[in-house]
Amino acid sequence: MEKNKISIIVPCFNEKEALPLFYNKMSEVMQLMDQTAGVSFELIIVDDGSQDDTLSVVKNLADNDDRVKYISFSRNFGKEAAMYAGLQHATGEYVAIMDADLQDPPDMLPEMYRVLTEEGYDAVGTRRVTRKGEPPIRSFFARKFYRLMSRISKANMVDGARDYRLMNRKYVDALLSLKEYNRFSKGLFGWVGFKVKWLEFENVNRVAGETKWSFWQLFLYSLDGIVAFSNAPLYMASIAGVFSFVVAIIAMLFIIIRRLVFGDPVAGWASTVVIILFIGGIQLLSIGILGLYLSKLYLEAKDRPIYLIGESNIEKDSEKH
Ligand code: UDP
Ligand code: MG
Repeated sequence: MEKNKISIIVPCFNEKEALPLFYNKMSEVMQLMDQTAGVSFELIIVDDGSQDDTLSVVKNLADNDDRVKYISFSRNFGKEAAMYAGLQHATGEYVAIMDADLQDPPDMLPEMYRVLTEEGYDAVGTRRVTRKGEPPIRSFFARKFYRLMSRISKANMVDGARDYRLMNRKYVDALLSLKEYNRFSKGLFGWVGFKVKWLEFENVNRVAGETKWSFWQLFLYSLDGIVAFSNAPLYMASIAGVFSFVVAIIAMLFIIIRRLVFGDPVAGWASTVVIILFIGGIQLLSIGILGLYLSKLYLEAKDRPIYLIGESNIEKDSEKH
C-alpha cells in the first residue's frame, strides 16, 4: 500500500468512445492534485469483456502512461465483478470508483480527498440530487426501490447514490472481506458501515456511447438487491400463509354453523373456484420467492470465481488476495 496514492477503478464495457475523453479529463485532475496536494495516482481500468475496441484503446493509454493499469476479463462478468477486481488490485492508500462515461465528475475528487484526509471520514459517497435527462418512469421506480430497501434491509441505502466514491484502506479492506458471489455493491457499501460523508451533485449525461442497462435489467438487478439484503419477502410469504389459514378457519366455522342452524344446501361453485385460485396464487408466489433465495444459495455454494482475467499488465506478485 502506498501513502498519498489514489487508485481509480474504472469499470468499462464497450467504452471505446468515452474512455479517451475520460482519460483526458482525469489527467487534468490528476495533475492538479499532484501539484496542490502531492497525490500520486494509478488508474485501474477493468475491461469487462468489451466487444468493441476498448481493450486496444486501454492498451494504447497504458503504453503512453505508466499510471495506467488494466485488467481485461475473459468475458463480460458485469460491473460488480469489475469493481471487485479493481478493489483487489488497488495498491493506493485511497481508492475511488468511477464510471468511464464522465457521469461521475472527476472535478469532485479534490474535495472528496480533502474530506477523507482532513475531516476524519472513512469514505465519501456521492449522490445525484436530480435525475434530469433520465426517463421519468425509470426515476420513479428507482425512488420506490430505495424507499423499499431502506425499510426492509439493514444496508442503509441512500436515494440517488452512485457507485462513485473515495474510500480509505480500512474501508476497502472491509469491502474485500465480503467475499460473496452475488455482489450488490450499493448494499455492501451500506452494510460495512464506518463514517461516510455524502456529497451531492446534479445529474450529468453520459459523454459518449450508450447506457448498458435496459429497464428490465435494472428491474432484475433490484430483485437481486432485495434477495441479497433482506429476508422480508420470505416473511411476507409466511405471513400470507398464516393469514389465508386463519381466514379459512373462520370461513369453515361460518359454513358449519350456518348449515346446523339454517340447514342451507351447499351452493355456489364460483366462490369455490375463486378460493382455489387465490390459495393457488399465494402458493406459487411463495414457492417463487423461496426459489429466488435458493437459486442465490446455489450460486454461492458453487463458489465459482467472481471473474476470470484474460490479460493484464499488473504482475501476479502484486496481487494481495
Ligand atoms: N459497465 C461494466 N460492465 C457492464 C455494464 C457496465 O463495466 O456489464 C460499466 C460501464 O462501462 C460504465 C459503468 O459500468 O463505466 C456504468 O454503466 P452505464 O453508464 O452504462 O450505466 P448508467 O450510468 O447508465 O447507470
Ligand atoms: Mg453511465
